[in-house]
Order: sequence, then C-alpha cells, then structure tokens
Amino acid sequence: MLEIRGVTRRFGKTVAVKNVDVKIAEGEMVGVIGRSGAGKSTLLRMINRLIETSEGAITFRDLEVSKLRGTALRRWNRDCAMIFQQFNLVPRLDVLTNVLLGRLNHRPTAMNLLNIYSREERIQAIAALERLDIAHTALQQAGTLSGGQQQRVAIARALMQEPQMILADEPIASLDPLNAKVVMDSLADINARDGITVITNLHTLDTARHYCSRIIGMAHGEVVFDGTASELTAAA
Ligand code: ADP
Ligand code: ADP
Repeated sequence: MLEIRGVTRRFGKTVAVKNVDVKIAEGEMVGVIGRSGAGKSTLLRMINRLIETSEGAITFRDLEVSKLRGTALRRWNRDCAMIFQQFNLVPRLDVLTNVLLGRLNHRPTAMNLLNIYSREERIQAIAALERLDIAHTALQQAGTLSGGQQQRVAIARALMQEPQMILADEPIASLDPLNAKVVMDSLADINARDGITVITNLHTLDTARHYCSRIIGMAHGEVVFDGTASELTAAA
C-alpha cells in the first residue's frame, strides 16, 4: 500500500502540489488526469524521490519514502520503475544494453562501470524485449528506433527492475494513436498478469477511462476527483 498524506510541494512561490491525500492499494491501475501544470508530474516524481516533498509524508508498506537514504533508497529506486514521456533511453547504446540498465540498482557500482551482466540477466532482458515484441531490435542503437519502439524498450527496462510499482509520466503523449494503444495495452497487461501497481499520468480522459480502474483528477495542485470511471461519468 502506498500512502500519500498531506503532501505539498512548492517551487518558490508556485505551489505545484497542495496538501494531497491519496492511498493506493497494491495491484491498482490508477490514471492521474488534469491539465498541463496541474501537478501530476511533480506528484509522481515525489513518489520515486526524483524530487523531494516540501511537506507531508509518502509511505510504502510502512516505510517512509522521503526518509530513505543509501542502500534503502537504491532499493526503493528498484521497486519503483519510471516511464517518461520522452523515453529517457541512452540513445547511443544498443537496445539490449538499455534494458540491462534496469539492473543498475541491483548491483555494485563497479559491475555497472565494467558493464558486467550475467547470462541470466541477458536472457531475462531478451525475454522482456520479446514480451514487448521488439526482440528483433536488440542490437540496434536505441536512438534509431521509432518513438513507439523506444517506449517499449523503456517498459522492458522497467520490467528488468522487477519493480513493485511502475510510475508512468505521460507515457503516450509523444506517440501516434496506434503506438499509444500498444504501450497502454502493455502497461495494462503488466498490471493484470504481474500484479504490478501502475500509476500513470495521462492527459486524455478517454484513455484513463478505458484502462484505469481508478481515476484521480488534479487541478492547480489539488486532487479534485478520486473514483472509478463510472463515478466520473456520473459526476460529469
Ligand atoms: P508537462 O508536460 O509535464 O507540463 P513541462 O513542459 O511543464 O511538462 O515541464 C517539463 C520539465 O520542466 C519538468 O521536468 C518540470 O519539472 C520542469 N518545469 C516545469 N515548469 C517549470 C518552471 N516554471 N521552472 C523550471 N522548471 C520547470
Ligand atoms: P503537470 O505534470 O500536471 O503538467 P507539473 O507537476 O509539471 O504539472 O507542474 C505543476 C506546477 O509546478 C506548474 O506550475 C509548473 O510550472 C511548476 N513546476 C514544476 N516543476 C518545476 C520546477 N522544477 N521548477 C519550478 N516550477 C516547477
């Protein structure tokens, strides 16, 4: 269970996220919707500690996320995989290496520097690529792939982390409708079959309705709606 209690984040005078209270159970698929600037991205980034909270607490299974340091923080960065709008791959490295980078926080730094991966890890990385239907790109430079393919590599990298939770920040905002469907279907499949909690920012309500069992609406940093798709329809 992830619990966000009284969380606020300020950037100077801007209040990006304002006193948010949300509890998310394991295995949920949650869509966070709202206009650009509503605070969605800031909220996700506080969960995985890309940015710190100004006030309040985020806990996961009774662990206070904002207090994690050192090894515990590395462990959290494993448990909590992130998918970005712009994929955030290393464009000059090949696809397989990008997927193996999902192991970064599982290993001593020296092994990362020396680029040492076990046979099992390579097999697991290829299996992840196969699951996303892009194993044939394994040896290509990641930067040469289409946007839809790159996002699938990013999902394979997330799987390689063996996470408890996937946080996706506008995962389909840069994709055409066909690739957007493939990417959302993949996230839904990972949620359903692997039981991994998925929290995804989306800017189209239709996508959230279609894929998410729960929708959180944000405006001006605050949660203005929290319920199921049908409750949202009833409220509108
Ligand atoms: P989004 O599509 O989420 O609205 P933005 O273009 O607003 O993305 O933001 C892109 C990046 O710039 C984010 O990492 C965000 O944290 C950062 N950012 C957004 N607004 C500001 C700002 N006023 N000053 C500095 N950085 C900002
Ligand atoms: P969303 O993801 O819903 O588009 P964001 O969380 O990116 O919203 O932004 C919420 C607010 O916080 C916006 O007003 C944005 O400009 C501001 N903001 C986000 N990141 C930064 C930053 N790094 N520095 C300053 N302001 C920021």
